[in-house]
Amino acid sequence: MATVLITGSTSGIGLGIAEHFAKAGYNVVFNGLEDNGAEIAANVAKEHGVQTMFSNANMLDAEQIKQMIDEATRKFGVIDVLINNAGIQFVAPIDEFPAAKWNAIIGINLSSAFHTSQAVWEGMKNQKFGRIINIASAHGLRASEFKSAYVAAKHGIVGLTKVLGLEGAPYNITANAICPGYVKTPLVEKQIADQAKTHKMSEGEVVEKVMLKKQAVKDFVSIETLAEMTLLLASKHATAFTGTAIPIDGGWTAQ
Ligand code: NAD
Repeated sequence: MATVLITGSTSGIGLGIAEHFAKAGYNVVFNGLEDNGAEIAANVAKEHGVQTMFSNANMLDAEQIKQMIDEATRKFGVIDVLINNAGIQFVAPIDEFPAAKWNAIIGINLSSAFHTSQAVWEGMKNQKFGRIINIASAHGLRASEFKSAYVAAKHGIVGLTKVLGLEGAPYNITANAICPGYVKTPLVEKQIADQAKTHKMSEGEVVEKVMLKKQAVKDFVSIETLAEMTLLLASKHATAFTGTAIPIDGGWTAQ
């Protein structure tokens, strides 16, 4: 049975993807900072008849990342599919942007993917199969004001994806980035509140006039759509899909 490790998988998009992979028969390594992570992992195992484990490794800490992957490898053997999904957001104009928030966003949203990819690489290389999928964002391809760190990190992860795609090619390791538009998760619900303050608008106006303004399809992107794309990229048939940044953004980046 193949194994998937998903960072930030005890909430939102990561959790939705984890459930899809479990349903498809994958063993799942959960990670995240939610207090009920172990419970989530146990429930998914029970519901889908697969094996799971949970690690609360902090994606800001390279040593904890390495320990998580060592532990997962001891339990399951090679990590066949790595999904770098953990991420945070902070919204503020550049002149007020706290340096600590910059460092945290670059650390969690970008550098952690370097550390996880490095840690799974040898196993994938030896078995001549590996799939690395990075959950970037439409902000990996386009900018918005007040999101300096997030846009920088997401553009960075698109760049890292391309390099991993090139270096992985001789070993059947592919790397791809998915670039979603807005998905209604706890991360976005917090942004709606923050943006309402910054723009001095009601939360309803923020969704209509700010968030979905750039999407031609005036609806949030569904987690199921992202999960289905992720499963496709993980399949053994997806060998020619590599080094890409795939927008799933309701037409945002068509403009
Ligand atoms: P979320 O807040 O629901 O989930 C984020 C997960 O990351 C949580 O499990 C959290 O515990 C984990 N996490 C945060 N900091 C961590 C750390 N230091 N160590 C370990 N885990 C940590 O958010 P989401 O909306 O599901 O976002 C998931 C990913 O999708 C992020 O990378 C985000 O940038 C990206 N994304 C989200 C949207 C959207 O509209 N929601 C759009 C495009 C891209």
